Amino acid sequence: MVNYRYLGNSGLKISEITYGNWLTHGSQVENDAATACVRAALDAGISTFDTADVYANTKAEQVLGDALKGERRESLEIFTKVYWPTGPGGPNDTGLSRKHIMESINASLTRLGTDYVDLYQAHRFDTETPLEETMQAFADIVRQGKALYIGVSEWTADQIRAGHALSKELGFQLISSQPQYSMLWRVIENEVVPTSAELGISQIVWSPVAQGVLTGKYTPGAELPAGSRATDEKGGANMIKRFMHDDVLQRVQDLKPVADELDLSLAQLAVAWVLQNDNVAAALIGASRPEQVAENVKASGVVIPEELLAKIDTILGG
Ligand code: NDP
Repeated sequence: MVNYRYLGNSGLKISEITYGNWLTHGSQVENDAATACVRAALDAGISTFDTADVYANTKAEQVLGDALKGERRESLEIFTKVYWPTGPGGPNDTGLSRKHIMESINASLTRLGTDYVDLYQAHRFDTETPLEETMQAFADIVRQGKALYIGVSEWTADQIRAGHALSKELGFQLISSQPQYSMLWRVIENEVVPTSAELGISQIVWSPVAQGVLTGKYTPGAELPAGSRATDEKGGANMIKRFMHDDVLQRVQDLKPVADELDLSLAQLAVAWVLQNDNVAAALIGASRPEQVAENVKASGVVIPEELLAKIDTILGG
């Protein structure tokens, strides 16, 4: 079963492997498969579910809400996000203005079929709206009980520091940051992680298996596996391309002996790897099939010894 970690220095515990539905629910996978993945997550002890209003243009929230219907609300942590437009594109349909935030939370709650989300996240930083206005809107949402905690996603260290300071002044506390992080994407280690650790903020990291690349299923020179994200031209193919280079795919294959030494699959090694970072509260996994969830959750609780971490650095960085 999955272990739990505290989110930032709050009292909220979340499952250290958390399930997210970007590119899958309401788009790549049929609703039955989406429900099967959610079921597999619940069966494995995952209690934390992440979505966003913009995923599949609002359909992902609806599908997740439907899949979780009937579950005991108190046993779940439901996270969503605000920033991008979900409508036809009016002047206030985007960003972190008070208007957009207040309208978006209500629409998200309706789609998710819940009175509150556990974590409401700013999906990106808004350079045009005063940060004071954004943080005041979040403070009001917390006071109204529509969100219990507030987080951000893909904010820089300086933006996190400024948002955190304002949140304290306004009587709540920013507790999480949601950045991309994996063995192939380590940008946050330089500034975001040290700043967050100092402020009592955790990372909930997305694409821990680099959208499937770190499972080793894409091999140099070979055909793309049928039905995989890299073949999904409407959805994920575009973003996964940044990893689809023969030298990267070969290095991933070269990690196999390290995974074997720990009796793990490559996917499990990749998920376990992000969880070795103390500032990471959760690896935020995606899945197109329930078997992937069942496989990846086995990374919970795995300890990768220092010498193998060093070996991984050599293989990927050398
Ligand atoms: P992952 O790196 O976990 O990639 C998931 C995909 O990899 C699956 O859908 C599947 O794709 C493939 N895969 C996973 N496990 C296996 C396995 N064991 N064997 C074979 N293939 C496997 O994460 P995502 O990129 O899906 O992101 C996860 C979540 O992070 C999102 O749902 C979302 O909640 C969040 N996110 C947040 C962002 C932000 O800006 N805040 C941005 C992006 C994501 P397939 O079978 O189709 O090949």
